[in-house]
Formats: sequence, structure tokens, C-alpha cells
Amino acid sequence: MLNTYSELAKHTALARPVYEPGKPIEIVAREYDLDPDMILKMASNENPLGATPLGMKAALAMLDSVNLYPENSSLFLREALALKRGVSPDELVIGHGSSEIINLLAETYVDSETEVIVGEYAFFAYKLATIANGGRCIEVAMPNFQHNLKAIAEAVTSATRLIFLPSPNNPTGTANSESEVVELVESLPEHVILCFDEAYSEYLDDPPDLRALIKAGRKVICLRTFSKIYGLAGMRIGYGYCHRDLAEILNRVRFAFNVNSIAQAAALGALKDNSFVEHSRTINRAGIVQLEKGLDFLGLEWVPSKANFLLVRVENSKRVVDFLQMKGIIVRPLNGYSLSDYLRITVGTKGQNNRLLETLEECIDG
Ligand SMILES: *Cc1c(COP(=O)(O)O)cnc(C)c1O
Repeated sequence: MLNTYSELAKHTALARPVYEPGKPIEIVAREYDLDPDMILKMASNENPLGATPLGMKAALAMLDSVNLYPENSSLFLREALALKRGVSPDELVIGHGSSEIINLLAETYVDSETEVIVGEYAFFAYKLATIANGGRCIEVAMPNFQHNLKAIAEAVTSATRLIFLPSPNNPTGTANSESEVVELVESLPEHVILCFDEAYSEYLDDPPDLRALIKAGRKVICLRTFSKIYGLAGMRIGYGYCHRDLAEILNRVRFAFNVNSIAQAAALGALKDNSFVEHSRTINRAGIVQLEKGLDFLGLEWVPSKANFLLVRVENSKRVVDFLQMKGIIVRPLNGYSLSDYLRITVGTKGQNNRLLETLEECIDG
């Protein structure tokens, strides 16, 4: 047989590893016959406080206009972001989640002749996007779960087009300092673009700021998302800021109307919600400390995190995941990351963290 669907498919399509996201509440409810209202999702680094109230209000108001196509380039959002971030609207590209921009970069710069550098435990989406475009992923070791920027610089060859560097990284929670990242960027040759993924930068005390490097003409794009601290993961919206020449190209490559009007409105509302962001940060800091103490008490090892989740070492992670799910708590197994002895647990509210710790204790004792 030479004409099955898979035989007819491009090999880059079939080479894509399957991405296994955290399980949705409704699916676990069905699988374990549980009431969805009692299920606690700590699997996808979502905001345990819910969505930004100002964002939700703006989203609801936009429902009246969904008979109309959205503004194609998210102009009003780019203008508001430009003011907030001290950049220009034409230096911004808005995506269907920042994952879309990761894919756009790979679609634009990666083919079978090119290499992309990622850390061995870096966010999976970079590898997926690279493989999907036929590129070669060069994986750099991450001792102590930390991106080693010297090793990344040394991995650059004439075939390198992209380096993906998330800080803090998902799923390790580790971050790199601004001076280290600046040093890396300044060492890069002209044919390499650094994609600096700032999905969790709002959780940092002192996030690296690469805007000056971009203005100085260094080849850098910074990604941010509304999925994490703003609590809008279901809206699918994020953005990149970069040199206007790169923004122009990415805007050409993306689909028209890639970001729906409700998501655009929600993000615009979210940008005004400073108190929600501040409160989310405070709850997260307290939650990290609470979980660290609780995990110590249970004798479980964890990796110090700068984000809104913790990487936790457990024996027989599959049994732990199943036990927690049976009790209505969803956490993230990390088999796809070659971290099968670890779980990633999103920080919750105080009550949620207590419930997780108590259930973990039951699991360990049982
Ligand atoms: C969650 C996450 C994103 C954001 O994804 P969206 O597509 O914006 O929801 C990007 N990078 C990393 C490292 C993440 O963990």
C-alpha cells in the first residue's frame, strides 16, 4: 500500500511528537466519575484566582460584536501595549497565544538545512515547532535544571538560526539573570535570532529587560502571554516584541484574523488590571513558600522555582498522578520531557495547596 493517509503525508508532519497537555477538568470528571466542581487543576500553570476581572468585563462587552471580523492586526491592543512597554506598535506581533509566535518563527526561519538550539528540559513547544518544519534540534544539557548560556553559545554553528530561551523555564522554574542573557546575545553572530520567552516574567522580582538590545539592532524577540498571570489561557492570546522588520515578516506569515475579537478585548482590559496582577503575584509567592515547606515535611525533593509552579521529584510518578486524579487533583506528569520521576505542580491558593499536600501525604502513606 502506498496511498494510505500516512504514506501520503509529509514526513515532517508525521515526525511531530504528540504534545500531551494537562488534562482538562471535564475529562478527569468523566474518567473518574467525579463532580467537576470538586476538581482542582494544578496542571497547566493557570492562575488559581481565575481571570482578570477587567479582562472578563471587556470580553463580555465584545460579545455583542461577534458578527463582525476582528481587527486583523490587533491594532488597539498593540497601541496599548506599546504605551505600557515603551515600544512602538509596529514592533509588536500579537498571536493566538505566544505559542503561535513560536510556530511562526520556526515556519519563517527553520527548514531541513537549519539548526535550532534549546535546553534539554526547555518548554516542549520549541522542539515541536522545529521538528514540524524539518529543522534539527540541538539540545544543550541543563545541569541542575538550569539553562547553561555558555554551553548554548558554544553550540552555535553556521546552520543555527534560532535559540529558544525561556526564563523562567517551564517545567523547571529556573531563570537566568539579565547580565547572563545580555552576554549571550552580544556573543551571537548576525545569522542567529534569540527568542527570549517571558511567559512567567511577571512572577520575577527583577525581570530581565532586553528592549535596549532590540533597539540597538541585536536579533532578539521577546515573547509574553496573557495565559498565565492574567488568567486568560482559554482566550489564546500572547505577543512578541522585536525589531519592526521582524514584526513585519511575522505579521505577513501569520493567518489573517489570527486573534479573535473577544481575546483582543480581554487582553486590552487585562492591561489595565494592575491590582489583579499584583494580587496574583502576592498569592503566588505565599503559595510557593507554603508548598516548599509542605513538600519538605513530606520528604519530597523540589527544584527552587521563580515561576508559578514547582518541579517535584516523586517515586512512581504514574501512581501518584493516578492517585491524585482519583481524588480530584490534576497535576502534570513529565514523561515527554524525560523527567518521568518528576511532576509539575501549579501553585494554587492557600486552601488548594493544603488540599494538594494532604492528598500527597495520603498517597505516600498509602
Ligand atoms: C505557557 C507558556 C507559554 C504561553 O503559551 P500560550 O500559547 O501563550 O498560552 C509560552 N512559553 C512558555 C514557556 C509557557 O510555559
